[in-house]
Amino acid sequence: MPSHTIVIIGSSIAGLSAAEAAREKDPDCRIIILSEDSHLPYFRQRLCEVLHNREQAGKLYIHPEDWYQEQGFDLRLNEKVTRVLPAEKAVMLGSGERVPYDSLILASGSYSFLPPTKGFDLTGVETLWTMEDALRIESRIGRAKRSIVIGGGVLGLEAAYALHQRGLESRILERLPRLMMRQLDERSAELFTALVEHEGTHVATQAYIREIIADDEGRAAGMRLEDGSEFPADLILVSAGVRANTEFLSGTGVEVDRMVLVDHQMRTNVPGIFAAGDCAMMDQRWYGLWMIARQQGAVADENAAGGSKEYVMPVPPYMVKTMGTQIASAGTIEEANLSPEALEQLHRDIEENSGLFQYAKRLYVGDTLSGFILMGDTKAFSSLHKQLGKE
Ligand SMILES: Cc1cc2nc3c(=O)[nH]c(=O)nc-3n(C[C@H](O)[C@H](O)[C@H](O)COP(=O)(O)OP(=O)(O)OC[C@H]3O[C@@H](n4cnc5c(N)ncnc54)[C@H](O)[C@@H]3O)c2cc1C
Repeated sequence: MPSHTIVIIGSSIAGLSAAEAAREKDPDCRIIILSEDSHLPYFRQRLCEVLHNREQAGKLYIHPEDWYQEQGFDLRLNEKVTRVLPAEKAVMLGSGERVPYDSLILASGSYSFLPPTKGFDLTGVETLWTMEDALRIESRIGRAKRSIVIGGGVLGLEAAYALHQRGLESRILERLPRLMMRQLDERSAELFTALVEHEGTHVATQAYIREIIADDEGRAAGMRLEDGSEFPADLILVSAGVRANTEFLSGTGVEVDRMVLVDHQMRTNVPGIFAAGDCAMMDQRWYGLWMIARQQGAVADENAAGGSKEYVMPVPPYMVKTMGTQIASAGTIEEANLSPEALEQLHRDIEENSGLFQYAKRLYVGDTLSGFILMGDTKAFSSLHKQLGKE
């Protein structure tokens, strides 16, 4: 008889790492992973590889199917959780079935946000978060000529690069004044934008979208901006951020403020319910990163099994490989974000080769490295990341 039943909602990296940690701690416990996804767990952060080449899809699965059986995981795909019933210690599935738990781990991640813009519901407007999304977009590439990606963050850039590599005209529209606001300062963003254009993708920043233009058959045919300018496109990918999957928690008493609120032990305010990964927020901090979801999943589970491990949010490292270059950054990368006291002790170290689109910046406050950006040559990344915050 299993000693304990752990139910995990979500089969991506936070859910999977929770399951692995649970199995390590207790070889006999029952582990049920419920997921609305129809695919075995995959490396979501590599989905743009499918846009480059459909064959890659088969290479993105984290483990083969029989591995889950060998671990004794009851992985139930195509199962959407519609409600959590804390008083009964059970979750309810779309079919109405109730699945009882001793401990519950919420690892339900995110979905792509579609702003309420006119035309975002037209055929030809896509978002990319799941394997199915990637396969559907890939299947449209052969029929499309011009693409627009809305959003100049990491995901948008990777997608725009793939679309251009597949022969489509490629354009990125970004609301903010520059690309990759979280990862680049003003100068490196300027250099990077020049590289993106050099690689064949057009960039427009401070681009405010008014509507998607439809053709006679009701399909997306282009984009109209607030300033009146128009861009034709038959494939439009919206990469305008994500929202946490928390709707099944309404009325449960689990505290949600855009994400599920957790303490340092990944506990929600409801006993026996933990949360990890993209659906969780700790200390008002949320990064939406694979590595953090993996680490949090393991901590949540250890604590679900009776432990009291604390999770300390790391300074998030950003590693991006796109547009034929690599970018790594972490910490405080802009002088404007330092306090007046810190600015008095500021020392910067900047190297640039604009011909090669290379840039390296290190910001020190006194002798302490407070942040860095590496573009082009990222070999120093690990050693700099370890130095962050240390004298
Ligand atoms: C194209 C792309 C590129 C990315 N690039 C990077 C990168 O370079 N670096 C990086 O660190 N991160 C990147 N990310 C983000 C990274 O993938 C996420 O941070 C990570 O996947 C979060 O993991 P998670 O397990 O918390 O949630 P998710 O991966 O969102 O998984 C959530 C799981 O919960 C399931 N689920 C949701 N609701 C329910 C429900 N009601 N019932 C049952 N199951 C449910 C889903 O089916 C899914 O299995 C990228 C993401 C994408 C899409």
